[in-house]
Amino acid sequence: MQKRLTLLGSTGSIGESTLDVVARHPDRFSVHALTAHRNGDKLVAQCLRFQPAVAVVGDADTAARVEAQLRAAGCKTHVQHGEQALVDAASAPECDTVVAAIVGAAGLAPTLAAARTGKRILLANKEALVMSGQIFIDAVRDNGAVLLPVDSEHNAVFQCLPREAAMHGGVSKIILTASGGPFRTREPSSLVSVTPDEACKHPNWAMGRKISVDSATMMNKGLEVIEAHWLFDLPGSRIEVLIHPQSVIHSMVSYADGSVLAQLGNPDMRTPIAHALAFPDRVESGVAQLDLAQIASLTFEKPDFERFPCLALAIKALEAGGIASAALNAANEIAVEAFLARRIGFMAIADVVARVLDALPNTSAATLDHVLAADASARRLANGFVDKLTSSPASNPPVERIAH
Ligand code: NAD
Ligand code: MG
Repeated sequence: MQKRLTLLGSTGSIGESTLDVVARHPDRFSVHALTAHRNGDKLVAQCLRFQPAVAVVGDADTAARVEAQLRAAGCKTHVQHGEQALVDAASAPECDTVVAAIVGAAGLAPTLAAARTGKRILLANKEALVMSGQIFIDAVRDNGAVLLPVDSEHNAVFQCLPREAAMHGGVSKIILTASGGPFRTREPSSLVSVTPDEACKHPNWAMGRKISVDSATMMNKGLEVIEAHWLFDLPGSRIEVLIHPQSVIHSMVSYADGSVLAQLGNPDMRTPIAHALAFPDRVESGVAQLDLAQIASLTFEKPDFERFPCLALAIKALEAGGIASAALNAANEIAVEAFLARRIGFMAIADVVARVLDALPNTSAATLDHVLAADASARRLANGFVDKLTSSPASNPPVERIAH
């Protein structure tokens, strides 16, 4: 039966890769809704090509512009805007599959709505799961939703785990591989002055700017440890991070008998996307076959927690439980935004996150209200720390250098 998709965040890096795979299999997939934030022009082009019933944008002005362009081209897509429209698109009875590819906390409400309406959810938006944890997992279970990981590491682990939940007894640990990002071998003292463009220049993957900065700080791997904890129901102590600069092994599962299963492939998100879209079938994704003789060597090393304090902070937040992971995520979103806007330096990202975690008392994350309140408090605190850093240039030399 053909799957009918709502694609949240269709104009982003994951969104575009998803549409590339969808376009290769019109017999298998059709599009109910596409959503974007402000990039109306790209959304219009996507609507003309995929003819969704619904398109959602962030604000009324963009909606009016998109609507006018679509009508002029004779396209009947219904244009909506705002957060409720995202939730409606994700829970529409006309769609059975939701691709969650919005970046950051903005994706939580529609992704949770997809869980509550029993959809098949292809999860790229790790921040939504990091924030809401047990609440999200319970919503999936209680409403018969199906959660399929798109994040390449988690998709790899999913492919290497036994299909039967009862057989998980034989799993000793999972090993998340990490490229180490663009600054893996750079002299730590030089990191204070790196620019947003340098931080976004990932050696192996082309991604959105927020996740690119997260990869450079390795907060991305930290968020992925938390994501893996919820997806695979394993404690942090059984989730290992291993640096693998070639990004060919996307992650591994280690078994009690000494076996280690790995999933390999070229670093192209269309592979995990195609896997999750077609699961349990396999379909062509447009990704070239792996040429191991050409790659020749695969190397591994332990992560350096001093060079990458964000990784250590995320693991600490997972161990702490409660609202700590939601606070970590919110503080990181504010700090990364400030770094990308050249308001704070690269090393200040970890500093802001650490200060927020220290300042915010850790309390229960039992309800969505708890989580949203923690998210709001952490953002407030993080904004305060960013303001302090930007108003005292002496404590933040990189911003001063950029300003001149
Ligand atoms: P991106 O910045 O390229 O795209 C983000 C998408 O979200 C865009 O369509 C944008 O319009 C939309 N968006 C942004 N803010 C929004 C808001 N406030 N409300 C509604 N929509 C909003 O990001 P990306 O690289 O595609 O990443 C998307 C998600 O997938 C992130 O959570 C990221 O961690 C995860 N992910 C990405 C990759 C990758 O290779 N890009 C790999 C693994 C996981
Ligand atoms: Mg990943």
